[in-house]
Amino acid sequence: MMSIKKETNIKFPGAMQKPNSFWDFVTDNKIKGISKKHCITAHASASFSDFIWEFNDEKLARIMPDELAKLVNFEKIETKIHKCKDEWNKQVLNYFFKQAKHNQNLIITGEIFGGAKLEGAFLSGFNTANYLVNNR
Ligand SMILES: Cc1cc2nc3c(=O)[nH]c(=O)nc-3n(C[C@H](O)[C@H](O)[C@H](O)COP(=O)(O)OP(=O)(O)OC[C@H]3O[C@@H](n4cnc5c(N)ncnc54)[C@H](O)[C@@H]3O)c2cc1C
Repeated sequence: MMSIKKETNIKFPGAMQKPNSFWDFVTDNKIKGISKKHCITAHASASFSDFIWEFNDEKLARIMPDELAKLVNFEKIETKIHKCKDEWNKQVLNYFFKQAKHNQNLIITGEIFGGAKLEGAFLSGFNTANYLVNNR
């Protein structure tokens, strides 16, 4: 997370999904409409995270903005590093839900099926709901 001096060159609606192999998601929170101040949130990809995981925050606060600057224009004020060990699933299933074999009333749904983010969780839930409505 970075506070910055002015708007970035990220286009409306203010977010980039998987722009390259280093980043999973990059957003200008002011353009996105969730912050009054100029700031960026950038999620490192799983492979970039694995590579830099052991570095301390001081080193990360240098490396990560330098890498991001190859992609986004910004003037940094302050950086805050936040590590989330179990945030992303390493394996994602390419279907939206699973009905238990031993109990047809049990349906498993959620981010593991659609991708480890809100969008995936939504798609999984949406497809599960459609299945339930059409197979009552
Ligand atoms: C710190 C953090 C930041 C994130 N930021 C983003 C982001 O910026 N953008 C993005 O797209 N995604 C983000 N994510 C990922 C996103 O939150 C998840 O992908 C999404 O919430 C998954 O939704 P879900 O419904 O599959 O599971 P969850 O939201 O985890 O819901 C599972 C629910 O099941 C309940 N539960 C668990 N066990 C039981 C049980 N035995 N009985 C009854 N209930 C149970 C839990 O209490 C929970 O309410 C973030 C995740 C974290 C942890």
